[in-house]
Amino acid sequence: MSVVVAKFGGTSVANPERIRSVAQRIVSRKRAGDSVVAVVSAMGKTTDDLVALASSISDAPDPREMDTLLSTGEMVSMSLLAMAVAELGEEAISLSGRQIGLITDSVHGKASIREIHADRIRVALSAGRIVIVAGFQGIDAAGDITTLGRGGSDTTAVAIAAGIKADVCEIYTDVAGVYTADPRIVPRACKIDQISYEEMLEMAAGGAGVLHKRCIEFARNFGVTIHCRSSFSDEAGTLVKEYDPTMEKAIVSGVAHDLSEAKFTIRDVPDTTGVAAKVFGAMADANLGVDMIIQNLSENGHTDITFTSPKADIERTTEVMNRIVRELGARELLITGEVAKVSIIGAGMKVNSGVAAQMFTTLAEGGINISMISTSDIRTSVVIPAESAEEAVRLLHTAFGLDGAKVFEETQLSAEELAAKANKGR
Ligand code: ASP
Ligand code: MG
Repeated sequence: MSVVVAKFGGTSVANPERIRSVAQRIVSRKRAGDSVVAVVSAMGKTTDDLVALASSISDAPDPREMDTLLSTGEMVSMSLLAMAVAELGEEAISLSGRQIGLITDSVHGKASIREIHADRIRVALSAGRIVIVAGFQGIDAAGDITTLGRGGSDTTAVAIAAGIKADVCEIYTDVAGVYTADPRIVPRACKIDQISYEEMLEMAAGGAGVLHKRCIEFARNFGVTIHCRSSFSDEAGTLVKEYDPTMEKAIVSGVAHDLSEAKFTIRDVPDTTGVAAKVFGAMADANLGVDMIIQNLSENGHTDITFTSPKADIERTTEVMNRIVRELGARELLITGEVAKVSIIGAGMKVNSGVAAQMFTTLAEGGINISMISTSDIRTSVVIPAESAEEAVRLLHTAFGLDGAKVFEETQLSAEELAAKANKGR
């Protein structure tokens, strides 16, 4: 008998049939003797639709109102799932972020979890109920509704798993697990059976979208084992957990790519003390994320500063940087969204020098020009033109010996897309 938290993403609850099938899955789990908490995302593309709805009313919706609006998506799916479970003859109760006491800070749109009072969940579980929780939402100290950032339901699930000391946190998604690269780009990508928190974090930082980065951090900090698996089959997926020696010892475990960032360059900044502090202080004050940073060698007392940051915030970043350019008396601001970050990740990089060099050689032989480089002890990332991203991922996947024998079939992955097609009127 175990305590299981199972999270179902938007596609897994996209329509009534899918919701019924999730209900089936958790009911059989319960009948097999487990205590089950299900965390749900909003149905299908509901959150996108709500974002679009807001922007049809306002160009700059109030972040507090935006969170209140977005939180409604998960409220719909949680109550429908509770009804579906009841139809199957089990007792269920759905609970919102407020009802489970999921307290966050007040950063609307990307709030961080401060604490969780899991008593209500524990009581319901011991009364033999299946508990269904709205993902992605919480409340701040003032009692206002907050959301955890897009994809945040994963984080809700892990936080609950930590809070109730669950045996495992299962994240159900539309792919079979974590792959060595995006199988839509690299047909010979392989499913990874188990991966350490550290590597998974770097994969997520590199753009692998299967798990929310914050959710992996949370899992690592609280020692929650994540099982990332498909909601379309019973096959085992990928276990994300503490590193252990049985994990595969490939030097490189995966290749990730990310098209979600833009590159900003401030040209000819006077090279004086405090310039970088000013640029990145302004970004931090505006709650804008920064990923890679390069400051060029100074020439005639001037230098260039280049950094990448999320395209989603490109307008606000441009605004803030235009102000900084004026304040610093820099020459100009250059912006391009046509960039990709490609990363190789692997715990084996710690002890094998020459991995980065092999990466650069592979890209050079492919005629791909690198504009920025950054490294951690288990990841090397480069920024390249967006149009070369897929080619780069394929070349690196082959160069590091990751190509599997099996060719990934598009049909494997699109079970969900097929279902979506069959149910156009969601
Ligand atoms: N519904 C939210 C989103 O689409 C949260 C989630 O799916 O995890 O981002
Ligand atoms: Mg999601």
